[in-house]
Amino acid sequence: MDSYIPYGRQSINEADIAAVVRVLQSDWLTQGPMIECFENAVAQAAGAKYAVALSSATAGLHLACLALGIGPGDRVWTSPNTFVASANCAMYCGAAIDFVDIDRYTRNISIEALEQKLAQAELMGTLPTLLIPVHFAGLSCDMAAIAQLAQRYGFRVLEDAAHAIGASYQDQPVGGCHYSQATVFSFHPVKIVTTGEGGVITTNDEAFYRRLLRLRSHGITRNPDEMTQTSEGDWYYQQLELGFNYRMTDLQAALGVNQISRLKEFCSLRRDKVQYYLQKLPKDLIQLPKYSVESAWHLFCINLRNEKERKRVFDAMRLRGIGVNVHYLPVHLQPFYRNQGFNEGDFPCAESYYRSAITLPLFADLSLCNQDYVIQSLLEVLEIE
Ligand SMILES: *Cc1c(COP(=O)(O)O)cnc(C)c1O
Repeated sequence: MDSYIPYGRQSINEADIAAVVRVLQSDWLTQGPMIECFENAVAQAAGAKYAVALSSATAGLHLACLALGIGPGDRVWTSPNTFVASANCAMYCGAAIDFVDIDRYTRNISIEALEQKLAQAELMGTLPTLLIPVHFAGLSCDMAAIAQLAQRYGFRVLEDAAHAIGASYQDQPVGGCHYSQATVFSFHPVKIVTTGEGGVITTNDEAFYRRLLRLRSHGITRNPDEMTQTSEGDWYYQQLELGFNYRMTDLQAALGVNQISRLKEFCSLRRDKVQYYLQKLPKDLIQLPKYSVESAWHLFCINLRNEKERKRVFDAMRLRGIGVNVHYLPVHLQPFYRNQGFNEGDFPCAESYYRSAITLPLFADLSLCNQDYVIQSLLEVLEIE
């Protein structure tokens, strides 16, 4: 058994290592051929026409917002049960942020709450321009319902799928953008597939895709068709707008290509471990997540029936070397967002979910012996009054 079991971690095999070493021995550490290989691999896995590789999912959310035209005067709505990056991207663009409370069962944006908030916003003339649904823990939001509301109220949809590569919705992979303008994936080491740091935006819109490529690299183009005048020679390029350096390196992309080839295996290992937890954990003291074969199972989050026990259980598990965690502190209660006018009580389901939530270790290489230790420890800790 390991002396410390984290809640999530990468799985790196010999082929992953060899792929990175090959890039180190090649001519291109960045802006080389592995970027397109990785983009093609992600586009294929997600069932989208285009993919743009970036330095992080945070960069991806930022660029996608910019390319969707989000700026001052716009309202962006997202889930309070997410990592701060889902909201920060709106702030980078000078837009206003608001949240939609979650469904206690799926832990995703509640369609009911969304409908109510939209009806109210229509009366007040405060409809959002963009909604960023978050596929929490790898379970897709109800995208068909969201797309219907998007059509009716005239907002656009950007999927935060940082947790959800390998997930599906209505038998189609998440990231195919059938109900959204774009989808953003994260490849941070705690996520399902890793490139160290990294993110990808998928889309089916060619003009949007070309804009993202430009924004990723300073707003510069080398494509004569995009230039404002004829090229002066092979050295010539034009900066058309203010972009960034949000590029991924070829070292990361090569790791990503091999990791994506292991995606199905990762998801199936995660599903097996989830089923084992569901089979072994007691339903009287904890509320277990709903099983779904379509979830990518990035996280395994339970709720204690008695929220007053959360801190004690959390501390006792940590003392036993188990890296339990909590996902998520509601974003609107962060001091930065309280300063934007949000308060306790604004999104009661997300807040009450948070108060009793604990994330148990779940990752592809979690051994049976370690998982048994997590389960045994939790049972013991729960029984101590
Ligand atoms: C991890 C995460 C991000 C940010 O991803 P990075 O690649 O670390 O920038 C965004 N949204 C959610 C929901 C996340 O979990």
